[in-house]
Amino acid sequence: MSQFREEMKVIPGVAWITAILLYVCFVAFSWTFMIPHDPNLSGGPRWALAIFALVIPLFLAVFVLLIGYVNGDARRRGMRYVMWTLLSIFIPNAIGVILYFILRDPLQRGCPSCGTMVSQGFAFCSKCGTALAHACPECRSAVQPGWSHCTKCGARLGAGN
Ligand SMILES: [Zn+2]
Ligand SMILES: [Zn+2]
Repeated sequence: MSQFREEMKVIPGVAWITAILLYVCFVAFSWTFMIPHDPNLSGGPRWALAIFALVIPLFLAVFVLLIGYVNGDARRRGMRYVMWTLLSIFIPNAIGVILYFILRDPLQRGCPSCGTMVSQGFAFCSKCGTALAHACPECRSAVQPGWSHCTKCGARLGAGN
């Protein structure tokens, strides 16, 4: 669950406020206006009314939070977050949000030496040159522990990798 809580922190405060306000407004609007003025709704069973007035606005609030997540997550990944936020809002049926999760770049991380945000696949920091991962002895590109050959130049890697 702590992973989930970490991810929640990515959502900007403005998105939380918007989601809560929207939810409250929609619930108030459906109880005070839509239900009393629609004979089909006011005649229905109580549980159906509750679903209509409480659950449907919840989907809307969750959608706003999702857009907030796209905004914060694209920003921390060094992507074009304004473009992705707009795509998420304006492409119907949440297709922009789905596209984002398919196409998003890998998470960046801070260089242990200077704190610059660098991509996951970098072998060295782009600012100070600190080694961030195992590097191929031939071409200096990043290699994973356990590989026997470099994926970029094909050089044989020692067992120590
Ligand atoms: Zn650095
Ligand atoms: Zn190599």
